[in-house]
Amino acid sequence: MGHIIHTELETIQKRLLNSDQTSVQLGTELHAVTSAGKPVYTWLARGCIRKCLEVSADNAYLTVSGLEEILLISDPAYTYEGDNNVLIQQTSKWLLKLWTSALQGKTIQFPLSTANFLSETDEILKQRFSVTCFANFTAIRSVHCYAHYTTFISDIVAYYRWLTCYLLKLTYDKQVSLRKQESSTFFVNNSNQVYFSKSLATVYFLHYVVQTANEVISCVTDYSSKEVLLKLLSLFGVWNLRKYAHYFYQGNYTNDPNFGHYIEEAILALCRSLTDDAISLIDAILPDDCLLNSVLGHSDGKVHERLESVLSQTYGTYAKFQWKDDIHGCVSKL
Ligand SMILES: Cc1cc2nc3c(=O)[nH]c(=O)nc-3n(C[C@H](O)[C@H](O)[C@H](O)COP(=O)(O)OP(=O)(O)OC[C@H]3O[C@@H](n4cnc5c(N)ncnc54)[C@H](O)[C@@H]3O)c2cc1C
Repeated sequence: MGHIIHTELETIQKRLLNSDQTSVQLGTELHAVTSAGKPVYTWLARGCIRKCLEVSADNAYLTVSGLEEILLISDPAYTYEGDNNVLIQQTSKWLLKLWTSALQGKTIQFPLSTANFLSETDEILKQRFSVTCFANFTAIRSVHCYAHYTTFISDIVAYYRWLTCYLLKLTYDKQVSLRKQESSTFFVNNSNQVYFSKSLATVYFLHYVVQTANEVISCVTDYSSKEVLLKLLSLFGVWNLRKYAHYFYQGNYTNDPNFGHYIEEAILALCRSLTDDAISLIDAILPDDCLLNSVLGHSDGKVHERLESVLSQTYGTYAKFQWKDDIHGCVSKL
């Protein structure tokens, strides 16, 4: 998904730079999207790296695992070129401005259509969860029919729209109430950040990813590639949605416990259905990945044999340590 969005944003940026006419609307919208995109993607990558560290256990901390290198490259990215927590506020501030316009009944119309749905906030917030079984939730009757995934993804987009409208209303109301207590804008913004505006900007960006990737994938003509890409997008959509499931209960979208259960079941079912494609996907997306070329990622799966081989071929592994003579004769005080 990151690759699709990166290509998409790059194309838009080139269009903007090559255009004779400056499009203020496009520039503003692009700024809002990218200000959330960098934090959301680097935070997602951080979660992914931490998961790799966990599953690799002790081996993760060996230089030959390749994870050390990934950690070194990724860690500063949460801060440089705009600290994530500061940067994402640009997006939430823009969304709050749009909300004021939406409350005044103005139409929200921007070239990338990332927030145009805010014009229909009233109708969106009236929606309620009405699905009665898991099969209807995913809309997937056959894992080999991409039309079903398309329906599921449209539903996921609708969930994100409701969530964005709900969080925008919540953040706006919180800001109004904070302003009554505090004159400092800095304090108001800080107090609104963690549970309101940060979640809002994140959800807005995730909606953009699912909506845009769906449009791009719908143009893919190769049937089997399309099916796998739709599965991946569905997984990306529901897996991220799960982190915000509580808002659907807080906001009265549903009081049915199945909503949360269905999301989790869908994640597991999609993971199972993608297992057979995992290796080909990795080969297609990142063949020169440093993790795959490491001892742990090698395709033969013989981790211990490869570790032994690296150790035995590394100069000094079996040598006596140089400071051995310095401690000769020392008696332990324990
Ligand atoms: C490897 C590296 C390379 C860099 N290269 C460059 C470069 O080439 N050019 C350049 O100009 N700069 C560069 N920087 C600087 C970088 O852009 C800044 O470090 C970054 O913008 C963060 O600013 P800061 O360090 O002042 O942190 P601050 O803005 O002071 O933030 C400190 C902490 O407080 C949090 N915080 C601050 N304000 C808020 C708020 N309102 N709400 C919630 N949390 C908040 C932040 O999340 C962060 O955790 C580089 C930094 C690094 C680490």
